[in-house]
Amino acid sequence: MKVTVLRLGHRAGRDPRISTHCGLVVRALGADEIIYTGEKDQGLIDSIEKVRENWGGNFKASYEKSWKTVVKNWKGKIVHLTMYGMPVQDVVKEIPEDEDLLVIVGGEKVPFEVYEKADWNIGVTNQPHSEIAALAVFLDRIFKGKTISKKFPNATKEVVPQKCGKKIIEK
Ligand code: SAM
Repeated sequence: MKVTVLRLGHRAGRDPRISTHCGLVVRALGADEIIYTGEKDQGLIDSIEKVRENWGGNFKASYEKSWKTVVKNWKGKIVHLTMYGMPVQDVVKEIPEDEDLLVIVGGEKVPFEVYEKADWNIGVTNQPHSEIAALAVFLDRIFKGKTISKKFPNATKEVVPQKCGKKIIEK
């Protein structure tokens, strides 16, 4: 299953940390790609690409003007993460493992059409919180906890886990 995340409505002045963290988190937890809509922000794309250069893997980040184009061209299933959705723990088993998955998260205001286009509207709890947390929990569930130990090929930097302190191997 290839997982692409679609992050809606990026605002260059207000959201750089949240949008960057969406990219970093989904890369770390096994997604293949993130696509941003909203305001074009090349610095955001470059910062995610830079992480790949150092820390490996094949994760891609890109910008698309219209979420509708991404959804229209998508071949696979679509999940929209929203506090109003069905509980993740109840519906995650319905999502087929042999089809690609587009996971949509919002920003300020999500158009109702997104709810309609999604095969599943899914809540990670039905409490308001954050797109970053929702993505992290959702990916961990969809990958059944396996990608938490994912290895990233072609890294030039790798952390050697320490009980206390910091150790990085430079390759
Ligand atoms: N009222 C919004 C909503 O529909 O969830 C909250 C906006 S929140 C700042 C931005 C994004 O975080 C949402 O569009 C949604 O993708 C995600 N999000 C927030 N809480 C969530 C939850 N409990 N479950 C799933 N996604 C959530």
